[in-house]
Amino acid sequence: MTQIAKKNKSKSRIVSLLTFIVLLTGSGCNQTNTKGSVNKEQAPQAQEAASTPGQKSGKIKVVATFLPIYWFTKAVAGDTADVTILVPPGTEVHEYQATPENVKAIATANVLVKNGLGLEEFLETTVKNAQNPKLTQIDASKSIQPIEKISPVVETENHEEEHDHEYTGGNPHIWLDPVLAKQQVINIRNGLIAANPANKHIYETNAAAYIKQVDSLNNQYQQTLQKNPSCTFVTFHDAYPYLAKRYNLKQVAVVEIPEDQLTPTDVQKAVNAVKQYKVKALFGEPGIDNKLLTSLSKDLNLTLRELDSLETGSTDPQHYFQAMQNNLQTLETVCK
Ligand SMILES: [Zn+2]
Repeated sequence: MTQIAKKNKSKSRIVSLLTFIVLLTGSGCNQTNTKGSVNKEQAPQAQEAASTPGQKSGKIKVVATFLPIYWFTKAVAGDTADVTILVPPGTEVHEYQATPENVKAIATANVLVKNGLGLEEFLETTVKNAQNPKLTQIDASKSIQPIEKISPVVETENHEEEHDHEYTGGNPHIWLDPVLAKQQVINIRNGLIAANPANKHIYETNAAAYIKQVDSLNNQYQQTLQKNPSCTFVTFHDAYPYLAKRYNLKQVAVVEIPEDQLTPTDVQKAVNAVKQYKVKALFGEPGIDNKLLTSLSKDLNLTLRELDSLETGSTDPQHYFQAMQNNLQTLETVCK
């Protein structure tokens, strides 16, 4: 799909972000919500709706917010539900603006599944506009402890006050840690069972099969990455703190690449961070070809590689495993 979509994604990210370096940070893109709001999502109204599934025969209608949530939901629901996705793969989820079609989809859905942790900022108004009192909402981050901001920020010259990354709170990128992804699948399974108890057995069987694959992925990550502990890397998208924490890697710096030139001071700060933390790699993302990132990698004397945050790709639930395997291979190469 998605050459154009990817370009748009990278452009919007690059245009909207100014240069700065966040050292040892846990803060992510557009996160303003904290744990408190996660609890709020499991409102009693949702439970009430859960006991009245839309159709007794036929498929229930489920909308998932964005790609990883779509994979997990589709994997569990199988053929029992019509699962659709709100944010088209390749479209920037962090800054997504809902469409009238999104409102319509939620208005007629039985179930809405989201990642939570403040990722889907567009949802609040969209759900309100959809006016669907029967809607069951599943928060796939239920019971998952978000990583909070844990470190000082080194800002560069172009940093602006109103920047999204000023906000602190949990980081939403939990799907990149297989152990937390497993919890997301369990949350979705439980939510679907509550919404449609008649298919309990199917949801349990489907979830078990997918979870088995996730467990195996986790084992592979553990076995591969434990050989080189504390491997340190720089990214320009703050998507990997959970992955890093799980497997004893270190995402030490997030370098947001601006549209214009990096100033000499910016570059110097990045170089200093790389020296201080003995960084082994600089990670961009698939489909994002940025000259500044390339020149920064030269200045830092680091090979520019790709890590996939899984916000774009095929809608096949198995794509999760392929993309995660690719990331593991990249990490293995870098961390040797
Ligand atoms: Zn992200």
